Amino acid sequence: MTKVPEMFGSMVFNDKVMQERLPKATYKALKKTVENGEPLDEGVANVVANAMKDWAVELGCTHFTHWFQPMTGVTAEKHDSFIQPFGDSVIMEFSGKELIKGEPDASSFPSGGIRATFEARGYTTWDPTSPAFVRDGSLYIPTAFCSYTGEVLDKKTPLLRSMERLSGEAVKVLHLLGKTDVKRVATTVGPEQEYFLVDKDLYDQRVDLKLCGRTLFGAMAPKGQELEDHYFGSIKTRVAAYMKELDEELWKLGILAKTKHNEVAPAQHELAPIFSTSNIATDHNELTMEIMQKVAERHNLVCLLHEKPFKGVNGSGKHNNWSISTNTGENLLSPGKHPETNYQFQLFLAAIVKAVDEYQDLLRITVASAGNDHRLGANEAPPAIISMYLGDDLDALVRSIINGNDYESHGKERMHTGVDVLADFKKDNSDRNRTSPFAFTGNKFEFRALGSALNIACPNYMLNTMVAEELSQFYEALKGADNMEAAVKALVRETLTAHQRIIFNGDNYSDEWVEEAERRGLYNLKSLPEALSHFMDEKNVNLFVKNNIISEDELHARYEIDLETYCKQLNIEALTMVDMARKNITPAVSLFVRELTDTALSKKALSDSISVNVELNLINSLTVQLEQFAALTDELESEIRAAAAIDDNQEKAFAYRNKVFAKMEALREVGDEMETHTAADYWPYPSYTELLFGV
Ligand code: ADP
Ligand code: MG
Repeated sequence: MTKVPEMFGSMVFNDKVMQERLPKATYKALKKTVENGEPLDEGVANVVANAMKDWAVELGCTHFTHWFQPMTGVTAEKHDSFIQPFGDSVIMEFSGKELIKGEPDASSFPSGGIRATFEARGYTTWDPTSPAFVRDGSLYIPTAFCSYTGEVLDKKTPLLRSMERLSGEAVKVLHLLGKTDVKRVATTVGPEQEYFLVDKDLYDQRVDLKLCGRTLFGAMAPKGQELEDHYFGSIKTRVAAYMKELDEELWKLGILAKTKHNEVAPAQHELAPIFSTSNIATDHNELTMEIMQKVAERHNLVCLLHEKPFKGVNGSGKHNNWSISTNTGENLLSPGKHPETNYQFQLFLAAIVKAVDEYQDLLRITVASAGNDHRLGANEAPPAIISMYLGDDLDALVRSIINGNDYESHGKERMHTGVDVLADFKKDNSDRNRTSPFAFTGNKFEFRALGSALNIACPNYMLNTMVAEELSQFYEALKGADNMEAAVKALVRETLTAHQRIIFNGDNYSDEWVEEAERRGLYNLKSLPEALSHFMDEKNVNLFVKNNIISEDELHARYEIDLETYCKQLNIEALTMVDMARKNITPAVSLFVRELTDTALSKKALSDSISVNVELNLINSLTVQLEQFAALTDELESEIRAAAAIDDNQEKAFAYRNKVFAKMEALREVGDEMETHTAADYWPYPSYTELLFGV
């Protein structure tokens, strides 16, 4: 068996491989590009490409692909072989040009109308800050994707830009504070990924899971998550085998898979990596989601990444742990032993508080999706209201700054276990408030409103950009100050006072909070159409344009794409429901009613004195329900037609939410009710009991 350290990164063209395989001068030039963002010349690129190709071929590769993240939400790849004709034979070649630039046909990727199809050319450019890797016989080169005229067509480019922007602004502020040795700062991310595993044979019998990733019908199983026995429970053999193989596949690709455990819902699990730089964390999370699904196939399982595969039990999310650290190794969100005199920490904290308050709507928008609409505000994920949790200690500090009082630390309270053999341990100061969408957890913020399937590039570029913006304003406010410490203290106090409404340490699931948040003037954007109606608000457009992240046109394109995707997804779900209702559920229930009728008639024929009450009652109730069901199916179909005919995407999205989705819910209710009264042999789909407890 290969040892983990040998296995780790064995499929990655990482620093170690580069040192071994590149001439010293080339290695140095490449390092400069990676670390300082200096442009790479073609001579260097040729040498790197050749070394990459030799390495990849030794690992069995025949092809290479530029790997990018278009606006579809999934990654894209197009494989070219290394072959070049040479006499009667071929040789394996890979040039610097091929490494740096690719030209996939961009016409079939969503562009939100910014690129006419006649100008179909799109370009992928190598992102040397994220290492190339080998998978399934191909060399994968992480790239950014843009159009011929330079419009950004992917999720990666704005992320890279936002990281540079935040770095620049943070460094300026740090220099004002005397930290002149800091050259760069990087944002770091550790995304915790939730998922479900279901048996492949059962999955294959559910058209809703296959087409939509979630069940559209399905009566709740007699048992759900109420015993709370699944969370951190012992892992079943088949799942454990899956997780082991998954870890190994991820380790080979240099992904720092660290923690695995069962989650709250039956059949639900989580995988968390050790954090890394935002763009690498993004690439790695995309890879993790792909590999989760690939490895599942080998175990006759299906990995569901949808935010709400099953009604009645928790859905899946993703926690985006986020921090900022300097090239000198300092975590800027670490409060240290004395946060009350750590003005640098306070300044960065104030910037984040201001950012989250001023751009709450953007944070809500960035996690909006058809799938996540089922979770936010449903008491299993944070509410649709964005607020921040600071924990007792930090909250006390913020109060003392606002009120001008002395700050008293609670210190670390000793936690007494009451058992002599167990050592007393120190209680974490920022005890976790699981209900908060944006929580301070010791030395990082945890943005918890993300859906499980989301590409984390979006929330991160938005977060980075809004914090960069606040830091640039802070820099302008502080730069001429005679007494920097006094100026920082005043600015922190002023900022925290102005934005304290965004801080909330209580129970985010409570009804009181919804009312309180309204009094505070916070947004409560309950669904994607509501959230997106703020996307193009002037302050949001200004944020991205001023910080050179994306242009107004590009932002508008993203807005249109998000709305279109939402409408298309709901359209597919609604059509699938109509299909299931007419072709499978209605005939099945009708057949069962006939069986009951036959039974009743036979009983009567045998003897008039035998009771047929059970059959009669069931025949009656199922017949009434079946009529309702058929009527609702017709109504759903008309709602779909009406919504699909609307031109304006924003209006259309509202129609899908308020009309189509509402009708889907009504149809499901009757369908699920019939399921509970129909013999299992007649019901056309595997039940929730089988799906949730079948592995
Ligand atoms: P949990 O939230 O389940 O209690 P942890 O607090 O241990 O888990 O960490 C969750 C995630 O936060 C992990 O992926 C971890 O690597 C990540 N993390 C820790 N420190 C940082 C940091 N400075 N920046 C970004 N992510 C971090
Ligand atoms: Mg967490």
